Amino acid sequence: MKIPYGKQKIEVEDIEKVVEVLKSDFLTQGPIVNRFEEAFAKEVGAKYAVSFCNATAALHTSFKILNRDLRKKVIVTPITFAASSNCVLYEGGNLEFVDIDPDSFNLDIQKIEELLIKFPDKYQGIIPVDFAGLPVGSEKLSGLAQKYGLWILEDACHAIGGGYYDSKHNFVSVGSCAYSDLTTFSFHPVKHIATGEGGMVTTNNSDIYRKLIKLRSHGMERDTSKLTEPSHGGWYHEMQELGFNYRMSDINAALGLSQLGRLTKNINSRILIAEKYRDFFDTVGVSTQKFDREKFKNAYHLFVIQTEKRKELYDFLREREIFSQVHYLPVYRHPYYRENGFADLNLSCAENYYRQALSLPMFHSMSSEELDFVLTALREFYLS
Ligand SMILES: *Cc1c(COP(=O)(O)O)cnc(C)c1O
Repeated sequence: MKIPYGKQKIEVEDIEKVVEVLKSDFLTQGPIVNRFEEAFAKEVGAKYAVSFCNATAALHTSFKILNRDLRKKVIVTPITFAASSNCVLYEGGNLEFVDIDPDSFNLDIQKIEELLIKFPDKYQGIIPVDFAGLPVGSEKLSGLAQKYGLWILEDACHAIGGGYYDSKHNFVSVGSCAYSDLTTFSFHPVKHIATGEGGMVTTNNSDIYRKLIKLRSHGMERDTSKLTEPSHGGWYHEMQELGFNYRMSDINAALGLSQLGRLTKNINSRILIAEKYRDFFDTVGVSTQKFDREKFKNAYHLFVIQTEKRKELYDFLREREIFSQVHYLPVYRHPYYRENGFADLNLSCAENYYRQALSLPMFHSMSSEELDFVLTALREFYLS
């Protein structure tokens, strides 16, 4: 039995929906893209959703829109996929890595506050990541952002379907943008729903929404009321900004729309798998991501443990064809970052986290046989 750390699940209904598009008039952006966006916005409780060819493009466009002053720094987390901070570098922006909280593995909000008190004018925004599926709790961040005039771009690529109760006991679903300006999602096959390649941005701000639409398609404007001169005729459109071709195709959107119908089911399967893992690791005294379980709903993109015997466990599992993974090397330790100003950075919690981190197999289609196979191997490793 070969068990990867993550994988997609494609059902017959998904295939049928994609085939319908292949037989239709639209292969690139068409009516299914709109339907996927509307369904997505409704699912997460945001006013607007704009699809992209992947989350990296979604992050890039989002930063381009939010950026106010390239000299001002953007606060990012070191424990994430590099795309979370690369989006700032694409535009020539400035980054500052802040250390993580050793319990939640999310950005340490206390440390952010200390920085803002010390240097109130140095920053323009924050890109928090809902690491492994655990919402960062953007209500607190939003308070700081308001006080210091910052924007929040929430990278929720791990956390679709997650949420938390805010101080008014309202459930804040990830992507609703109740406490962030923009939220981004990925539909890479290891994430909760798959489109092949794909991403999404949600927002409640109509100006930002219009900018997202324009920038994802070359910066072109077709709306006659927004042209800089009277229209020359039905064909006329203007390129008003340096945009991109970052559109999602109807083929991918059909897969996404079909998969979205199973999101809740997928998250529930992941939660059950996580409970089993957590029970086991509690009994052997191995620490896992800590959070208030009354308050937070973790969407479990990953199940991460902290173990001093990381390498031994990784190899032990691999011999049994169980493929665990490590998420992530602190971003600033990648050679590109080291060569571009971060050579001397050393954030102690991020370093400690990385040294002990291991992600166990976690995917919604994992069968009880597969889970038992992994748990049996873990028992063998820890208890014999
Ligand atoms: C997967 C992921 C991305 C990038 O997603 P793509 O769709 O592959 O571009 C960005 N940020 C985080 C945190 C991710 O996990």
